[in-house]
Amino acid sequence: MQVVTRPAPEQDIDALDRIHQGLTGQGFTHLEHVVDGGYSGPDSIYRAQQRWGITLFGPVRDDPRAGQRPGFAKEDVQIDWQARTLTCPHGVTSLPWKPTLGDGHLRLSVLFPRRACRECDDRIRCTGNVDGKGRHIFLLPQPQQEIQTGIRREQKTDQWRRRYAIRAGCEATASETVHARGLRRCRYRGLAKTHVQHVLTAAGANIIRLSDCFPPGTSTSCRPRSPGQFLQLCQRLAT
Ligand code: SF4
Repeated sequence: MQVVTRPAPEQDIDALDRIHQGLTGQGFTHLEHVVDGGYSGPDSIYRAQQRWGITLFGPVRDDPRAGQRPGFAKEDVQIDWQARTLTCPHGVTSLPWKPTLGDGHLRLSVLFPRRACRECDDRIRCTGNVDGKGRHIFLLPQPQQEIQTGIRREQKTDQWRRRYAIRAGCEATASETVHARGLRRCRYRGLAKTHVQHVLTAAGANIIRLSDCFPPGTSTSCRPRSPGQFLQLCQRLAT
């Protein structure tokens, strides 16, 4: 079973928990929850699976500094979880990693021997530095690292992109209600009234969309709206 919603931001992991708690409390099991990239970090994916048995399906962030190190990405090194070392594509093995904290989460800091990197033909492309330091890599704990590596590879494939296209309607609807209907500006005090505002905004958006549809044979002075990505996806699946 697949559920497509727009959950709370990644940093507010408790909100994702509340959604998943609500879904499992209603008897939904073996769910795949399709989210966008802001909500599908390796930690969230791991937590959703472990705690609720729910598969979070969404892209993970590419390495933001990949452009500075075009030679080899983290995914190109071999990880030896027993020996706590990495081996790079040139066959050089790192020093054993050291645990550290990154953004309050456990990370593994790995350094390759400075001397070996200095003598390497790919040093600049791999390390991205000009001051002769060895390559430095941060790993996630093993389960999260395996999630990140696997999804970074998968999300480059057409098959993965076709599957993820199911979110197209969600993105367009969220964008329309936020930017065109002012959903992020609360006009009332209190959660109950805010909820009513959200429901009315959604109902209004639906009415506007319906007004764009004309029964066969009717004509209008306005050009009908061209089908959005979600409608195109539905039409493709129906054929
Ligand atoms: S710079 Fe160091 S880590 Fe990178 S490929 Fe060369 S030897 Fe390996």
